[in-house]
Amino acid sequence: MSETPLPQLRADCTRCFALCCVAPAFAASADFAITKSAGQPCPNLRPDFGCGIHTQLRDRGFAGCAVYDCFGAGQQVSQVTFGGRDWRQAPDTAQQMFDVFPIVRQLHQLLWYLTEARARQETTGIHADLDTARTETERLTSLAPGDLEKLDIAGHRSAVNTLLLRTSDLVRGHGTKDRRGADLIGATLAGADLRRANLRGAYLIGANLTGADLRTADVIGADFRDADLRGANLTDALFLTQSQLDSATGDARTVLPPMLTRPAHWEPCSGV
Ligand code: SF4
Repeated sequence: MSETPLPQLRADCTRCFALCCVAPAFAASADFAITKSAGQPCPNLRPDFGCGIHTQLRDRGFAGCAVYDCFGAGQQVSQVTFGGRDWRQAPDTAQQMFDVFPIVRQLHQLLWYLTEARARQETTGIHADLDTARTETERLTSLAPGDLEKLDIAGHRSAVNTLLLRTSDLVRGHGTKDRRGADLIGATLAGADLRRANLRGAYLIGANLTGADLRTADVIGADFRDADLRGANLTDALFLTQSQLDSATGDARTVLPPMLTRPAHWEPCSGV
């Protein structure tokens, strides 16, 4: 099996030309203090591609930056796809770089999910299919800019998603709680037994999940913004990402999968 080490799927801003600070458009909101157009550098961006307010993002109204995760696509596009030529040095290819970045980000996100699926012991029966999908996705990340622009990324996502759904069924078993895409905004789920629940794409914004048991729940794409995860158990939560954790609140008692880290802004410990 071709291996993509997880470190390659983690953002390394020191090797990126701050693509997330330039390529996307921002709309002034709770996540961003400003409105800017796609392709326009954020006014807080320094000449060395560092962020001028990196240590104050939440306080300055840029919480969206604090939770954003490119899954390592930034350094891939900067250093591999465009060979280390940044958008200031090469304005003729800047727009293409900005167009390719979200495509490669999707590919890296799929690699993250496929890597987790492959690591689950319950997926032994589909390891060959997962390996094939990973190898093909890795190959796509290495395409030239023009080929990436022409890629049917929606079609590839759909094919991989079929495998991720099979993974979810194998890990969670049958007859489990189906809350897929559910509107659980602000819901009171303190202490809830959500083991093996299907929470794919669920809206958990501001939900009270203190002390909830989310072991082996499928949380792919679930929106955890401002959800309260203090004391929750997320061991083996399926397809949980660092960005989801960063957008929520928690404390020292929140139990996390080993490959994710406790966000710095969480409380050291508090009563529930
Ligand atoms: S505030 Fe900082 S991290 Fe956010 S887009 Fe601007 S420069 Fe980038």
